[in-house]
Amino acid sequence: MKKIISLVGARPNFIKIAPLHKVFKKFSDVVNHKICHTGQHFDENMSKIFFDELDLPKPDFYLGIGGGTHTEQTAGIMIEFEKVLLQEKPDLIIVPGDVNSTMAGALVASKMGIRIAHVESGLRSFDRSMPEEINRTVTDMLSDYLFVSEKSGIDNLSREGIDSNKVFFVGNIMIDSLVHYLPGINASLITINLDLSYNNYILVTFHRPGNVDNLKNLKTIVNLLNRISGEKKVVFPVHPRTKGNLEKFGLLKQFDKNVLLTDPLGYVDFLSLAKDAELVITDSGGIQEETTFMGIQCITVRNNTERPVTVDIGTNHLAGTDLDIVEDTALKIMKGAKKKGSIPELWDGKTANRIIDILIDKLVNP
Ligand code: UDP
Repeated sequence: MKKIISLVGARPNFIKIAPLHKVFKKFSDVVNHKICHTGQHFDENMSKIFFDELDLPKPDFYLGIGGGTHTEQTAGIMIEFEKVLLQEKPDLIIVPGDVNSTMAGALVASKMGIRIAHVESGLRSFDRSMPEEINRTVTDMLSDYLFVSEKSGIDNLSREGIDSNKVFFVGNIMIDSLVHYLPGINASLITINLDLSYNNYILVTFHRPGNVDNLKNLKTIVNLLNRISGEKKVVFPVHPRTKGNLEKFGLLKQFDKNVLLTDPLGYVDFLSLAKDAELVITDSGGIQEETTFMGIQCITVRNNTERPVTVDIGTNHLAGTDLDIVEDTALKIMKGAKKKGSIPELWDGKTANRIIDILIDKLVNP
């Protein structure tokens, strides 16, 4: 029997690990899959709701490391996760995505000689001012099995000198969750409950530090949302980081009445809103992918994306951070300048199966 521990900490991690857990259950005679939650996201609506909705069991280990600076968080996770690894002695750990938990887990396991699988490997924004870029790059350097979601990842890893025998193009694990929960997403009543009409509102999320951590940028975002809400109703589920900053800068009450602020939403309701929106405006990583899969127009308010396939063949418009350009792009899309878009290769809902076939091959039948 092989033991595998998946290390998760933040909202997007839960969405990426859920499909793997479902498939691991089918192999419970050969693999004991355990989940360790670092506590990076701990609010009810950023964590527990995802475990409930995505049919994840209560984590086997909870490290309780929330808040703090990046260093405090990374170091705290490392110290506590080392204790789990010393006690459990797993054959492999799985780290998804690009958050501090991902990199912290990889650092600890690599020094203990424990094999590491990185899910969603190879993505690069080439912008080291993003903490996620540092997390991804370090994790990839240390990983033994690198599971890539889009082909740009293969090129990026090859350029960084990573042995191609360790790299596997398996498709996008986020899409596994989307495909699995589509019936529930289609059945959600959130648009009705929020009094929205199909294809006639704009869904917005912002949480990247570069956009929301300073007054000037956040104020410009508030102004932009107020302006576009003159055209269409805007729905804005507010990430805790963004909410904290809106409060700190006294901006929370500055929204016009056509901008509907909500708490962060559960997975099913959020994707239902995304699926029925005319347009999504975001700085999220995962939402660029989900909108491309669903054929929904997405404006990404960043100067770069680590997910270029969503721009090259999907429905993503990379508009930069000049909000006049973002507004102009939004107006053009609403007037009909929509990208047609197609679904990237292997975004088919079967990525977890491909990953687990490879891992079992490597661990159980080496
Ligand atoms: N999401 C959600 N509720 C929300 C906002 C986002 O369930 O209120 C989901 C979204 O569908 C996506 C994931 O959270 O799957 C993305 O997380 P986030 O934007 O926080 O992280 P990123 O992808 O930027 O790392």
